[in-house]
Order: sequence, then C-alpha cells, then structure tokens
Amino acid sequence: MDLQDIVSFCKRRGFIYPSSEIYGGLPGVYDYGPYGIELKNNVAAAWWKHVVHNNPDVVGIDSGIFMHPMTWKASGHLDNFDDAQMDCKKCKARIRADIMLEKYGVNADKFTVDEINQTVQKLREDKVQIKCPECGSTELTEARRFNLMVKSNLGSPTEAITDENVVYARAETCQGIYLNYKNILNSTRQKVPFGIAQIGKAFRNEIVVKQFIFRTREFEQMEMQYFVHPDDAGKVFERWRQARWDWYVEFGIDPSHMRWYEHQKLAHYASAAFDIEYDFQALGGFREVEGLHMRGDWDLSQHQKFSKEKLEYFDPVRNINFIPNVVETSAGLNRGSLVFMHEALKEEQLPNDSKRTVLKIDPRLAPVKIAVFPLLANKPALIELAEKVFRSLNKKHHCEFDDNGNIGKRYRRQDEIGTPYCVTVDFSSTGEQAENAGTVTIRNRDTMQQDRVGLDQLDQWFADKLPVL
Ligand code: ATP
Repeated sequence: MDLQDIVSFCKRRGFIYPSSEIYGGLPGVYDYGPYGIELKNNVAAAWWKHVVHNNPDVVGIDSGIFMHPMTWKASGHLDNFDDAQMDCKKCKARIRADIMLEKYGVNADKFTVDEINQTVQKLREDKVQIKCPECGSTELTEARRFNLMVKSNLGSPTEAITDENVVYARAETCQGIYLNYKNILNSTRQKVPFGIAQIGKAFRNEIVVKQFIFRTREFEQMEMQYFVHPDDAGKVFERWRQARWDWYVEFGIDPSHMRWYEHQKLAHYASAAFDIEYDFQALGGFREVEGLHMRGDWDLSQHQKFSKEKLEYFDPVRNINFIPNVVETSAGLNRGSLVFMHEALKEEQLPNDSKRTVLKIDPRLAPVKIAVFPLLANKPALIELAEKVFRSLNKKHHCEFDDNGNIGKRYRRQDEIGTPYCVTVDFSSTGEQAENAGTVTIRNRDTMQQDRVGLDQLDQWFADKLPVL
C-alpha cells in the first residue's frame, strides 16, 4: 500500500485523523481515533513491559513537559538543536537540506549549516543541478540554521516571550530523566547501574512534515536512559541493542524489514550511535524508528555544571565518586505504531474472487481482541445471549459488540481493524437448533477458519489462545 492508502485507511477506520480538520488542518499534528488510541496504548504498554517491568534495574517516571529553561541551555538544544533550512525561491517550499542532499548521494546527517552550504557549492561546481524537491527549480536560497525548539511563556500577564518567562515544550523526554536521576537514587533502592524510562510527548518545530505520523511537530517518545560505570557502558549498550531489536521481531516485524544504521559522524559527546531502521515501503525505503546512543557522561556533567548540584555517584564497591555514563534507547511511539501498522496491513485476494483488507497484527497490539455478533439483529434471544457473552468476555479482553449488517460484512470490518477473533451466537448457541447446542462459532482473523466452542468453555479457550502482554 502506498502512503495515501494508509492515510485514508486510518481516517476511514477511526485510527488517525488530521488535527483541526474543520479549520483546514494543522500541519504536523494528528489526532488518534478510537482504534488508533487502543493500538498506540498497546504499543506503549508492550514497550513498558519490555523495558520497565521485565527489568528490576529499570524504573519509570512521568516528568513535566515544561522544565526550567536552563535545562535546554545545558543540554545544548538552544545552541545546537538545528536543522539546516533552504527555501525554493520559485515555489517558496521549505526544504530540509540534509534530506534533500541524500538524493545526491551525500549523507549530511549532523552537518553544520556551513558544511551544507560548502557541499552544495561543491556539487554545483561539479555540474550537479541541485533542485527543489517540490517544483524542480534550481533557484534555492543558501541554507540557514533553523532551531527546532518550540517556545512559549508561562506565569506572566504579558504575551511577549522574555528571558524571565520563556519556557520550551520539551524536544525530547530524556532531559526529564536526567533531572530526576538524583531523586530516583535518593528515593528508591536503585544503585548504579540502573535505568530510568519514560513515555511522553515531545515537540519539534520540524521544517517539513509531509510523511503522516512518521514526522510530526507533536509526537511521543519512549526513552530509557541507563546509568552505568564507564567501564561497563559498552557491554550494556550491546545488551540493549539486542533487546530492542528483538522487541520489534517479537511483535511481528520481519527481521529482513529492519536494519542497523551506524552513524559515522557522531555528536561530540557520543561514542557510538546506531539506529534501528525499518523498511517503510510507503515512504520510499528504510527510515529511522529508534536510536541507541552511548552518551558518555555528557548529560549529567552538563547539568552538574549548569545547576551546580553534585550529580556524582559514590560507588561503595569501587570506593570512588564518578559521573555515570548514559546508554540511551530512544524510540518513537507514533513512528513505532506506524511500523506495526505498515507491516501488518494487507490486501488479500480471497478464493471467491473478492478481496479483503486485513490488519494481521500481533493480538497483543490489536485494538480489539474479540468481536461478538448475534447472527441476526432481529432475534431477541440471539441478542440477549450475545450480549451476555460480550459482557463476560469483555471483563478480561477488550471486546466489541456488532449486530450491524450481514456476518460477512462484520467479519470484513473486524479484519480491517485487526480483531483476532469473532464470536457468533446463533441458533445452536441458544439451543433452538439441536445440532451443536450450547456452542458458538469462533472465527480466526488470519486463517478465516471457524471452530465451534461450548459456551462454558469460552473463558478458558480465550485464556489459552489470546496472549497477554
Ligand atoms: P530524525 O532523524 O528522523 O529527525 P532524530 O534522529 O532527530 O530523528 P531522535 O532525536 O534520536 O530522532 O529521537 C528518537 C526517536 O523519536 C526517533 O527515532 C523517532 O522514532 C522519534 N522522533 C523523532 N522526531 C520525530 C518526529 N518529528 N515525529 C515523530 N517521531 C519522531
């Protein structure tokens, strides 16, 4: 499926809508509908289980979106969190220069604005025509710095943003982790090495946002920062690299659709940086989904310097004070949700010449686990029993009741939203038909096979078949 098919599928089936649509939309922001929020919550819960609950040495936090503005001075975001922007003089398109240069075989990731301009000049000298990706014009401005921080003001009656009232909507969730590192040490029994995880919103004034929820100006990150003695950082980094790769595979991503990208040009504080990339066919190829970085002691040292608070750790075994190194895993929740949808959404040809759209997603991530249908909508006995089955199953699994349209249509609707099982209550279920009395049919999304299962066996059947996180 191409991107437009996925975008319209998401809107039509209540997964994702453009923001503020009745006002013409707000670029780079999306809203999640009833099925989208279930899917996104399931991806977040799967990550939390894998990163926090499965690891006694990792704890979670939920820090504020706003932080003391000095945070962003210390972290380097105010001075360096830039992309290089060029503009097309003809069609006025805003262009992210590093992405445009990829098309000319240049990896400009982490290039400064000066390096971008020099590269463009060199390409032009070599007679390469650098063109606007929108209209093809060669009339482009020079690249200039574009800071991605979203600025606002708090606690002041004036509308002006001044040095006194300025706040920034956080550009990454990990800064809230560094600022709480000492609180966690002082209020829990965690000792270095240990990790702190957080899921939450981040905001970036991205130059170009034309790739649906892959790149938005408001998004969610799932980040874990692991604090460790420098001697052990390499080992910990390898352990988390493997664990994070395995997580995507465990939840249904074909490993041949992923690859590692190792950054050659590193940020000055990083000693290693690897991205997990996913083959987003709908976006034209492999793209970053998650970054894993060895950040050394940069973050804590910077915050120690700017806050003047001691952030050293006393290691009773080594009998030394040191600033822990940080190993980071940083994944996008929206991007991750798009990965799972992209992988699972299929158009299938059926034997009777019809087609179905089916979201073959891991049942643990599926928005709805079981759909319950009365065979006919106008038979009170069927409705009554189906509602009873629904109420009983819904206690343990998120279920949906549907009595609208014929059964075939209801199956198609559930296939589209990825519901692994559909239960149909019919005249055998109520006992009006003697054959198979007291049973329902359970239809499997992937095989489309139907099983008859006794009403008194249903709880156990689903307990065996539906994996939980
Ligand atoms: P990119 O190169 O795609 O801009 P990045 O290297 O700036 O991403 P990080 O700062 O490492 O990204 O953020 C970690 C993760 O957060 C990314 O791997 C991605 O999944 C997610 N992410 C970052 N920016 C965005 C965005 N604008 N929209 C959606 N998700 C994002």
